Amino acid sequence: MARNTGPVCRLCRREGMKLYLKGERCYTPKCSVEKRNYAPGMHGKKGTFKRKVSDYGVQLREKQKARRIYGVQERQFRRYFQSAVRVKGMTGVTLLQNLERRLDNVVFRLGLADSRPQARQLVRHGHFTLNGHNHNVPSYLTKLGDTIEVRASSRSNRYFKDLADRLGERRSPEWLEFDVNRMVGRVAAMPDRQSVDIPLQDQLIVEYYSR
Ligand code: SF4
Repeated sequence: MARNTGPVCRLCRREGMKLYLKGERCYTPKCSVEKRNYAPGMHGKKGTFKRKVSDYGVQLREKQKARRIYGVQERQFRRYFQSAVRVKGMTGVTLLQNLERRLDNVVFRLGLADSRPQARQLVRHGHFTLNGHNHNVPSYLTKLGDTIEVRASSRSNRYFKDLADRLGERRSPEWLEFDVNRMVGRVAAMPDRQSVDIPLQDQLIVEYYSR
């Protein structure tokens, strides 16, 4: 299935929460969730308040929320789940850890992009190196010790020049290290459940796929 290229604010309204897909705009009163916090569509307003949601519906919404936040298609998301099942431990936690380890998410968490969709695009456009080599696969799962660096040829780019000024105020999560002057990030630890600061109930996603 093709990647969603439609209006992303509708996705937030469908989930009834901010998914932060548009960068700075998400933090302003222009955010659609701030203005119209009900499901999109003709019957959205009515449906949001009257409809009773089944257990299946709750599980489905949680799965869709995670998929949309990380920008992953259904088939790929199911593969993440299946690989999480094979790992010893709590499946839901492993699933979220793997999603956090995606290269586009790491770029976002380092503060090199304002949103995950923007991070994905920057990676696709080849603005970063991974362990010293050009790399443009957003779904790559980073490993302990991986280094992510802004490519030398991209540093003169206006986007990265402006970004350097803003990065001073931003803090990366504890599992990532970032050297602002060299524009180099490093995966210093694997993300744990606490570092996934997104209100997602991983257990509901596990239940969805375990039906
Ligand atoms: Fe979602 Fe951001 Fe649009 Fe608000 S502005 S609805 S958080 S994508």
